[in-house]
Amino acid sequence: MLVLVINSGSSSIKYQLIDMKNEKVISKGLIERIGIEGSRMKHRKNDERFTIERNIPNHEVGLSLLLDVLQDEKMGVIKDLSDIKAVGHRVVHGGERFAGSVRIDNEVLKAIEENIKLAPLHNPPNIAGIKAAMKLLPDVPQVAVFDTAFHQTMPKIAYLYAIPYEYYEKYKIRRYGFHGTSHRYVSKRAAEILGKRYEELKIITCHLGNGASIAAVKYGKSIDTSMGFTPLEGLVMGTRSGDLDPAIVTYLQEVENLSANEVYEILNKKSGVLGLSGISSDMREIEDGALEGDPTARLTLDIYEYRIAKYIGAYAAAMNGIDVIVFTAGVGENSPILREEICENYLEYLGIKIDKKKNDVKGEEVIISTSDSKVSVLVVPTNEELVIARDTKEIVERNLREL
Ligand code: ADP
Repeated sequence: MLVLVINSGSSSIKYQLIDMKNEKVISKGLIERIGIEGSRMKHRKNDERFTIERNIPNHEVGLSLLLDVLQDEKMGVIKDLSDIKAVGHRVVHGGERFAGSVRIDNEVLKAIEENIKLAPLHNPPNIAGIKAAMKLLPDVPQVAVFDTAFHQTMPKIAYLYAIPYEYYEKYKIRRYGFHGTSHRYVSKRAAEILGKRYEELKIITCHLGNGASIAAVKYGKSIDTSMGFTPLEGLVMGTRSGDLDPAIVTYLQEVENLSANEVYEILNKKSGVLGLSGISSDMREIEDGALEGDPTARLTLDIYEYRIAKYIGAYAAAMNGIDVIVFTAGVGENSPILREEICENYLEYLGIKIDKKKNDVKGEEVIISTSDSKVSVLVVPTNEELVIARDTKEIVERNLREL
């Protein structure tokens, strides 16, 4: 069974075609600069790489190009479109309605559209991708997999903010959390690697990419996570501030004569690692700078690590203990120095011990703690596309059985 996984952003479509017989990716790529001059598609068939320069004004044209390329004699991997048995879509915001993945019909589409209020930047391109796929592949089942769904198990004590309760009732202002597909995948995978039952473990997952979040997964369920009503809350990120005193927002508006939107942009796009360092949002450059003795880069890295360590402490309290810590995503998978410094500088009191040699890896599944460490610490590369494909396959097969 071939499943096409689609992740539509505002000006891009990332895709993977996965053969679910062996879960192998048979083709993947990226359509970028949709609606912008210089749009193109980067496509991979096994180890062969192709770039197609083409005017791609919208998501439908992009998806149509993708379907042509997948069937192309030279670049393609399928005979015709009937080889694609299902499409899985990443959808950022499922609100309180979706606690799991669902088959998309008109009613589900409407519910996703209602969540545009909560995710005005993310849900519209997701919807554009879904609509294009429904039009171009009308007989193929489509499934939505939500970034927020895994965190719907959070209890009220974790998801309610201490503001007048009516705002929760009127506007659904609460913590939702994001990166749920990643937190779900790496926490489960860690239990498998350790040969332990997922339902018996207290796991903290650190998803450290451009966007970053941390989650407390107790006995297989997310009970708290650092991103909140929007992805702005929590850890220091590439360009997002993460936690701050909300009074800074109104203060900045006043002293810099800024609009609410301008402050929002500063906190989302000009803050975090970029804002602190003035160098870059890319952790590689910060690490290099810190290793070369640049004090600003060193301070930025210290603040980034300190925030993560504080959250680990908080979630150890939230779960009344920890068995496992997992590092994942761009920074988590590829930065031995960051993992070592967080564990050695802050987490010794939890009985955590890191094996420096084992920790000297990038992008591999590995247990980096010593055998006598009280908490197992792992690196687990995330794979959100695989989770989307698995959920899609499961839902489509369940639907078929019910017919
Ligand atoms: P996204 O959130 O966009 O999916 P990724 O998970 O791909 O992001 O993470 C991207 C980030 O990972 C980059 O901005 C960079 O800071 C970081 N990164 C990638 N490789 C390394 C590395 N070797 N060392 C440190 N950081 C890295």
